[in-house]
Amino acid sequence: MNKVVSKKKLEVEFLGKQEDVLQGFSRRRINEEAVNVERIHFYKTDKRVNPKQEEPFLVFPGNVPVLLSAPHAVRHYRQKKIKMSDQFTGSIVYLLHKLTGCHVIAATKLYGGDPNIDNPCIYKEKIAEISSREKVKFVLDIHGSAREREFDVNFGTNSRKPFLVKERILETLELNFQSFGLSRISYDYSTATGPNTIANYVACELRIPAVQVEINKQYRVPAQNPLGFHRLLGALMESIKELAQTNS
Ligand SMILES: [Zn+2]
Repeated sequence: MNKVVSKKKLEVEFLGKQEDVLQGFSRRRINEEAVNVERIHFYKTDKRVNPKQEEPFLVFPGNVPVLLSAPHAVRHYRQKKIKMSDQFTGSIVYLLHKLTGCHVIAATKLYGGDPNIDNPCIYKEKIAEISSREKVKFVLDIHGSAREREFDVNFGTNSRKPFLVKERILETLELNFQSFGLSRISYDYSTATGPNTIANYVACELRIPAVQVEINKQYRVPAQNPLGFHRLLGALMESIKELAQTNS
């Protein structure tokens, strides 16, 4: 009997924590901030820049050992065709840097490449440079997926090869996404298994556990789903905080 009572109490406290996080985002008007950040830093255009003349990436050094990446934050080239951006992924990593102090890299310009396909790849070289300079224990590579997909989030794990993804990183993500109500979780749904993905490169070449996180559009557009955007940010923020404290 006592056990049941104490379990209930724990659940209430657990939900209270999520509620506090969501209220904090409301007070801070984080959705308006996201819209502004997207417009200023991740402007969508077909104008191409030469990466030798103009820096096509934004890098924010952090103070916790987690690196977030948003390679498709703006339009990019794949097989000589311009592909649409993964909308709001740039704003998401930008805001998480401010909220948690994680390291961040994101594409801000159409420079002629696709960081999740290219080899060699100036974006991956930048990640190598950051992780040689800073302490980085985990990398989350943030992407978007279409609204029609039947998952809220897909974790690309390269079939969970032991040296690529530590179980800890997946457990942390699963628990936090579930507790913020993004419970339709899928694994290795799409192209996350290609040899040149950022997650694979980071895991295989840099030997840092990495997961490709693909977020359904339903949760990425603040104006269309204000609470959904808060829930998504909450799930990622708490995951980063926990991963930062994990010993690995
Ligand atoms: Zn993408």
